[in-house]
Amino acid sequence: MASPILHIDLDAVCANWRRLDALSGAGTRTGAVVKADGYGLGAGRVARALAGAGARQFFVATCAEGAALRRLLGEGPEISVFSGHMAGDGGQIRDAGLVPMLNSVEQLTRHLETLPGHAFGIQLDSGMNRLGMEPGEWQAVGALALQARPRLLMSHLACADEPDHPMNRQQLQAFRAMTDGTGVARSLAATGGILLGPEFHFDLTRPGIGLHGCAPFDAGQKPVTLSLPMVQVREVATDETVGYSATFRAAAPARIATLAAGYADGLPRSLSGQATLWAGDIPCPLVGRVSMDLITVDVTHLAEVPEHLDILGPHQSADDLAAVAGTIGYEILTSLGARHDRRYHGGGA
Ligand SMILES: *Cc1c(COP(=O)(O)O)cnc(C)c1O
Repeated sequence: MASPILHIDLDAVCANWRRLDALSGAGTRTGAVVKADGYGLGAGRVARALAGAGARQFFVATCAEGAALRRLLGEGPEISVFSGHMAGDGGQIRDAGLVPMLNSVEQLTRHLETLPGHAFGIQLDSGMNRLGMEPGEWQAVGALALQARPRLLMSHLACADEPDHPMNRQQLQAFRAMTDGTGVARSLAATGGILLGPEFHFDLTRPGIGLHGCAPFDAGQKPVTLSLPMVQVREVATDETVGYSATFRAAAPARIATLAAGYADGLPRSLSGQATLWAGDIPCPLVGRVSMDLITVDVTHLAEVPEHLDILGPHQSADDLAAVAGTIGYEILTSLGARHDRRYHGGGA
């Protein structure tokens, strides 16, 4: 059975990175977050293209992701790890030359004891209550930590996609209170924070989703097209049903196409009976349930049934599809399945 084809335009990813980079001043470097396999698009390929565009600092969630990325990127670019230095991570951090963002006194102690002299950063909790040292903790160990010369002090905004949310200013103030006067490089902004303006930019920004043109940087280019191959087409008579639980019943004779992708490929089951696929410029409704490996689509109105229909592409972005599924573009992209045949375009591909 043919696979879904995931076209990834690396030139569009690089163009988005350059636009995000241009939103901050010359004194602010722009990194790139490529956790979760580069938001589902392939961390190695995305990071290599961005390194070609000038990115020098990459962020991943875990040390295992960092070690895998190091093999693909080679020496040179800095790879930082949000989850910090967890028990058992020392070997990977040392061998792959990773920079853990230490999240607690426990992690700081572990790092200084197991890898003295090895680069690290510190993640501070400015109010999100997810990762990082709290103000009290930082007050207790900050002086000691600063003596060991961290490379970066960072924190993360909880509500940056809502520019008017009062949390943004509160977190900015909390971050400044913890870091002003330290002389260490600082980072607060992910994609949303970049759009909040210069006060939020500090020395380094960390865009992830914006590289893929999703909200809050939906002004960006859309690098992804997902084309689903047709397995078969059948004629369905009036009153016949389609798929599990017989949720679609034909009101008139219909032509139904079965396509090779389902919830195991990252198409949420909540798209059942809701989503639209595209034959070029012509919309075709998904009918019936999304099953594990297959979906069914009404193509009665097409003069000719093509070999593929698009579920992501020029007419439907990851955010558009997410809105239908009741989720966010981040989840659509990072769910894109391992069965997709990824085809890269541009970016030195
Ligand atoms: C995921 C993440 C980012 C990137 O966020 P986007 O909203 O995708 O730009 C930046 N910093 C941290 C700590 C993250 O967890």
